[in-house]
Amino acid sequence: MKPEPSAGRPDDYDAVLRDFVTWLNQNDGDGAWYLDQVEELPATVDTEVAPTTAPVSEPESAPLPVATPAPRQLPPLELDADFKRICEVFVAETMGAIARHPEAKDGPPQDPYLAEAGGDRTAALARLREEVLPCTSCNLSAGRNNTVFGAGSPEADIMFIGEAPGRDEDLQGEPFVGRSGQLLTKIIGAIGLARDDVYIANILKCRPPENRDPAGGEVTACEPHLKRQLAIIRPRVICCLGRIAAQTLLNTNLSLKRLRESVHFYAGIPVMATYHPAALLRNPQWKNETWNDVRKLRVLRDALVQER
Ligand code: URA
Repeated sequence: MKPEPSAGRPDDYDAVLRDFVTWLNQNDGDGAWYLDQVEELPATVDTEVAPTTAPVSEPESAPLPVATPAPRQLPPLELDADFKRICEVFVAETMGAIARHPEAKDGPPQDPYLAEAGGDRTAALARLREEVLPCTSCNLSAGRNNTVFGAGSPEADIMFIGEAPGRDEDLQGEPFVGRSGQLLTKIIGAIGLARDDVYIANILKCRPPENRDPAGGEVTACEPHLKRQLAIIRPRVICCLGRIAAQTLLNTNLSLKRLRESVHFYAGIPVMATYHPAALLRNPQWKNETWNDVRKLRVLRDALVQER
């Protein structure tokens, strides 16, 4: 028998409880990002497998390997029956939208560095990175410690896009390494992925003073870098973190609530939006919606990879 909701108990209490139990089962008690104190989280998730034999040193003249590494087999995402049904509808609708979108079949135009590197995404991205690091296209370059180009796998199926580097990111030259970055790492882990399985970048590559919103001129100056990253990585799906990232990328004033309701497109790539981890730190009541968003993201990624 379904218990009556008690006073002070949220209406969706049962759904939250079911979700939570699913999460615990999936993560084998490994510290739910629902519950964690972010201060206690490790700064990074170590995904490296220890070598079983001593490394063999390469002769100095050895050519750089160009073979693309086989993508890691991801653990399946377990979903309860109700949410599985919701995901099936979401994937069916999104596949329909992708089929109707004029640019989705081709994706972004082939990047010249990728073509010159014979399709080696790692080499093409490294070359672009060298070009972007000294960028002075806008005034933000004057105040930066580091350009924050992006990090993760050049073969990623999912690309997360945030707004702009904050203080920690500016100091370290890596995206999402501060408190909100630690939460993002946990969220990525909760859908069976590691940071090294995805690519993480920002709309702006340099920190705006006092973390203010990106200005129009800065976005215009920086967007070509992001477009080229996308044209090299060619992710199957983009996930925008927060209203500003989604509105700026999609050039719209729609609210985050509206943006979360459907899939959009950027350079022919499907785009989803969810809450920024920094907003989740301030508003933990949004975690359940984020949990639903990122599970849909993983299910959509799986469907798109399967049809490849
Ligand atoms: N917030 C962002 O949007 N990006 C970062 O890299 C860090 C915090």
